[in-house]
Amino acid sequence: MHPTSEHDLIRTTVRDFAEREIKPIARELDEKAEFSVELASMMGELGLFGMHIHEKYGGQGLDTLSYIIAVEELARVDSSQAVTLAAHNSLGINPIYKYGTETQKMKYLPQLCSGKALWGFGLTEPDAGSDSRGTKTHAFKEGKEWVINGSKIFITNASASISIGSTVQTVTSTKKSGKKEFTNFIVDKGTPGFRTSPIHGKMMWRASDTAELFFDDVRVTDENILGSVGQGSKIMLETLDSGRLSIAAIGLGLAQGAFEMALEYAKVRKQFGRPIAQFQVISFKLADMATKIELARALLYKACWLKDTGKPFGKEAAMSKLYCSEIAKEVADQALQIHGGYGLLKEFDIERFYRDQRILQIGEGTSEIQKIVIARHIGV
Ligand SMILES: Cc1cc2nc3c(=O)[nH]c(=O)nc-3n(C[C@H](O)[C@H](O)[C@H](O)COP(=O)(O)OP(=O)(O)OC[C@H]3O[C@@H](n4cnc5c(N)ncnc54)[C@H](O)[C@@H]3O)c2cc1C
Repeated sequence: MHPTSEHDLIRTTVRDFAEREIKPIARELDEKAEFSVELASMMGELGLFGMHIHEKYGGQGLDTLSYIIAVEELARVDSSQAVTLAAHNSLGINPIYKYGTETQKMKYLPQLCSGKALWGFGLTEPDAGSDSRGTKTHAFKEGKEWVINGSKIFITNASASISIGSTVQTVTSTKKSGKKEFTNFIVDKGTPGFRTSPIHGKMMWRASDTAELFFDDVRVTDENILGSVGQGSKIMLETLDSGRLSIAAIGLGLAQGAFEMALEYAKVRKQFGRPIAQFQVISFKLADMATKIELARALLYKACWLKDTGKPFGKEAAMSKLYCSEIAKEVADQALQIHGGYGLLKEFDIERFYRDQRILQIGEGTSEIQKIVIARHIGV
């Protein structure tokens, strides 16, 4: 559960990279709402994509904690780059790695680990958000082909210039009782009838790619099925269990970054003849922030340790996602308060952090849904 010297080295390496390459341009990318192909490629060269998957497929063969520390360090500087990595690793690569056939793995994983190609995870639909069983996108078999129709919304990494496809959950049959059978398909960009459209105007994660997906008589074969027919829901839910760890890591890293900014500012900003850090009210805010961050880190690392040691980790993943995203909100809010009026200006990074934290209580299962998951685990 405790980070080793190898984990420390990963932290230092990713922190150096984030400070050197991301920090100087993060504000501008946010302002222009621009996805950076160059940064994705650099993250690939650094070995961040597919960190947790076997070397045979182009990954690094590292443990979950290594990957989570990398996400945390990116989010300490910029959540947009952190989510590009987190969504690609947890939602894009992971289901293919875990459920793909050997042919699918050899075809997709090496390029997806390179940083030159991204993959989406298409679960959410306009009428199916928290309730993923409300999925309407459907696929039916016609001869040897499956024909997919429907749409998805809010899909990360699906419409960037380097996005090469998406995994998509479909309904493949509905029983008389109304019970649906879900099946996931791997759909390549360029497949006739498959179209993506970037979503503009986000308040947060503005330098990350978010898209709508449209399927209009998209024809694929059995070779595109991920897992087996009827396994769709299981794959998606298991994927979300792991994905929660990386969203938690974004919350933790964002909180850490916001705290450091507030601490530094409080030491130099003088009012009433002394640094504001010397007022007990401010120092207590900082003490509360530091305590929450330590608790969040301990909980998240425990969840990683459970996963890495093959133990059930669903409850702790949901708790980590809930707690880390909620403390990200509290810490960013208090850090902005410590900056006073300057915190509201775009030239201060805390303004971006304050906006970026807001998605964390919504994406990959809202805070309310995490509580439902936790309640189930504790036997309510
Ligand atoms: C930037 C961004 C990136 C995303 N990336 C992806 C992605 O890559 N792939 C993907 O599939 N999805 C993605 N999502 C979708 C995200 O997971 C959903 O937005 C989220 O699951 C919530 O669904 P919804 O927005 O439809 O809200 P709704 O489900 O409509 O929820 C609205 C409100 O009702 C509450 N609520 C709903 N049901 C209950 C209940 N049973 N009990 C109590 N409260 C309830 C919710 O907590 C929330 O407060 C992304 C979203 C965003 C904004």
